[in-house]
Amino acid sequence: MIEVSNLSISFKTETDIVKAVNGVSFGVEKGKSLGIVGESGSGKSVTALAIMQLLPQQAIINSGNIIFGGKELLGLSKSEIREYRGNKISMIFQEPMTSLNPVMRCGKQVIETIQLHQKLDKNKAKKQALELFERVKLPRPEEIFQAYPHEISGGQKQRVMIAMAVANKPNLLIADEPTTALDVTVQKEIISLLNDLRADFGMSLIFISHDLGVVSA
Ligand code: ADP
Ligand code: MG
Repeated sequence: MIEVSNLSISFKTETDIVKAVNGVSFGVEKGKSLGIVGESGSGKSVTALAIMQLLPQQAIINSGNIIFGGKELLGLSKSEIREYRGNKISMIFQEPMTSLNPVMRCGKQVIETIQLHQKLDKNKAKKQALELFERVKLPRPEEIFQAYPHEISGGQKQRVMIAMAVANKPNLLIADEPTTALDVTVQKEIISLLNDLRADFGMSLIFISHDLGVVSA
């Protein structure tokens, strides 16, 4: 599904150039999962952001290829990459508020994500959003649909973010330390949910963590 080869990325700072990723290569087959483990600061998030083409301006890609479904992603235009991001490739983060809008009800956010890539009217999109809330095992989906992010728990926010990430049935889901901020029981539930979704949707999963125990689960 994806093949990253010899990827090197640095950052331009005011005084010099810092190497963040140095010649990394990996691949994931369709429907399979890959764990990436490394200490904090080793370049895991920068690698993931490069795949999503969400690197900050100061980042320089020095070398490498990112081949997704047979197509080179590096060098695509902004409008071309929008076809991939949130649609064929999705990402979830440690902090769900990176993905969620604090001033919009949870349900509406999922509806907007669905409608961005699928031509569905509001009622059909709402039905799909509620099905997703059930699929990610949110309790009382109707209530959470109407809630603002601050009104629900951290684990629930994580599930809403996961629902948004899989709303358009991506071929690849990148999970960057999605359980690091959660307590151990919730961590386990989220990992098993991601694994179930991978199997159900036939998606590839890249799971990033600094914790080898979490990745091996
Ligand atoms: P990890 O996710 O493995 O903890 P990161 O990928 O976030 O690590 O960071 C890798 C390296 O890139 C770190 O040394 C970090 O300081 C550097 N880095 C990340 N983002 C920036 C940035 N916006 N500007 C400068 N350096 C950065
Ligand atoms: Mg990181």
